Amino acid sequence: MPELRKDPITGRWVIISTDRAKRPTDFSRDSVDIKGNGFCPFCYGNESKTPPEILAYGRNGSGPNTPGWSVRVVPNKFPALGIEGELDRQGEGLFDKMNGIGAHEVIIETPDHRITLANLHEKGIEEVLWAYRERMNDLKNDRRFRYVLIFKNHGEAAGASLEHTHSQLIALPIVPKRVREEVDSAARYFQEKERCIFCDMIRQELATADRIIAENERFVALAPYAPRFPFETWLLPKSHSSAFENNDAPVYANLAGLLKDLLLRLDAVLNRPAYNYIIHTSPVGEEINEHYHWHIEMMPKLTKVAGFEWGTGFYINPTPPEESARFLREAQL
Ligand SMILES: [Zn+2]
Ligand SMILES: [Zn+2]
Ligand SMILES: [Zn+2]
Repeated sequence: MPELRKDPITGRWVIISTDRAKRPTDFSRDSVDIKGNGFCPFCYGNESKTPPEILAYGRNGSGPNTPGWSVRVVPNKFPALGIEGELDRQGEGLFDKMNGIGAHEVIIETPDHRITLANLHEKGIEEVLWAYRERMNDLKNDRRFRYVLIFKNHGEAAGASLEHTHSQLIALPIVPKRVREEVDSAARYFQEKERCIFCDMIRQELATADRIIAENERFVALAPYAPRFPFETWLLPKSHSSAFENNDAPVYANLAGLLKDLLLRLDAVLNRPAYNYIIHTSPVGEEINEHYHWHIEMMPKLTKVAGFEWGTGFYINPTPPEESARFLREAQL
């Protein structure tokens, strides 16, 4: 019998197939392999082919937009939103609109085209996380912005248009609906119980351990109770923290370790899948709070979203999270 499960944070229901559970080998799709064909503007030596850099780490005396970097942040050459101008909020009868103001940046994670984030050394991943933090903190000073979303598309199937490993950042003049729902729901839970729902969830999951994939000193990777997608995984700080960008160095070092571990597990179990991850942190201006708990949501691209999902907002997940957690936990690294 399939199961309907409700996610306690978003209130979203999902359908979990429990009888004909799909195993990792049941998903047919291409592995992400780096081909290295053609010209790449993110490669070492091609720094002049991107818009001028905003931030670079690792330079030892070399000038901007030249080789010698380890992580580099540049504006997106084809931005979804424009950085210049005012929002100019307007109503057109019952319709609302504003100018498409925002920042759209690319975090180039390494100068080496052949490396994936999973294969980058831990210190390199830590630098990428620092770059996320530094750019978020900088953009939050811009009073037009209400939210800064970090995301990564890995592989063509997950929406990456360049294969050289990179993440993206979009600063938005509004708080996205997905985030607002999570934050508000967590706030209601806190109002009632005076506890963080994520902290409660982590405590319960660690106690039962059925859906735990891996953990280290400060972080835990788990399969959520009601995941939308097969092998969906959340990475959360074990103790309460409401903003990704408000942490000190050991936190990012610890996160780099568990993120690498999780990516290697996904590569091993799912044969180098395409994936997306996103960072959910508190909106600008409400960073310090007791109810929202920042986290990373990781979604390997194994299934397609189709009519039923579009029509209902229900997702059909062919792999129970207890199964996916077990496969990932037992991965041979
Ligand atoms: Zn490249
Ligand atoms: Zn918490
Ligand atoms: Zn979230």
